[in-house]
Amino acid sequence: MAVPGKLRGVVAMDGPSGTGKSTVSRRLAAACGAAYLDTGAMYRAATLAVLRAGLDEQSPAADIVAVATAADVEPTTDPETSRIRLAGEDVAAEIRGVAVTQLVSAVSALPAVRAALVRRQRAIIAEELGGIGGIVVEGRDIGGVVTPDAALKVYLTASEEIRAARRGRQDAKAGWTADPAVTLADVRRRDRLDSTRATSPLHAAADALILDTDDLSVDAVLAELLRLVAERGLLT
Ligand code: C5P
Repeated sequence: MAVPGKLRGVVAMDGPSGTGKSTVSRRLAAACGAAYLDTGAMYRAATLAVLRAGLDEQSPAADIVAVATAADVEPTTDPETSRIRLAGEDVAAEIRGVAVTQLVSAVSALPAVRAALVRRQRAIIAEELGGIGGIVVEGRDIGGVVTPDAALKVYLTASEEIRAARRGRQDAKAGWTADPAVTLADVRRRDRLDSTRATSPLHAAADALILDTDDLSVDAVLAELLRLVAERGLLT
């Protein structure tokens, strides 16, 4: 693909699990010479810290908050790698495991955990804007809460079945395999928890462009995103 130009500003990519957000966000960032931030990986790493502290869903919220907010989570902003460090250790594979996936929505529903991670995400975004100049940020609340003034907000959707199939392939690539029915049930369970929590529930920001990816290949979604950033004048 021809180099389209360099991204200036923030592209906010939101949507539920399995919409292809990570793949297209990374590819968009790589294609436009921009940084990339996977905020879901940050919630997952904080959740791994909670598990490693011997806590679970039944533990007092104050204990979970204390561990999750103190966790030394250091994500990469390089779109070419999925590395993320917890206390200096690369935990990219472990955060995709069943234990983290089961607990992450409960941990990320805690307002104090969100406040701490959103603060950290905003600092990373500001640093990248001051440096490389452009960043693609993906998550659930990016356009609505983390960077409400993002230059472009996109909300990806897809049917539950397609999302479960994509999530299954992504997990397999990360070395985790599960029964497709279990993956579908998990996608449904997390969507319900993520969309009904009191603090920053998953929803499309009022000014987000909604892109249904059911019938679109990764290349087609990427082409549409590149068209949108060019149309907004975000490429230099
Ligand atoms: O994107 P991913 O599926 O890895 O995210 C894992 C979980 O982290 C989500 O199910 C959600 O509970 C939480 N999350 C969040 N806010 C974000 C990103 C992820 O609450 N911005």
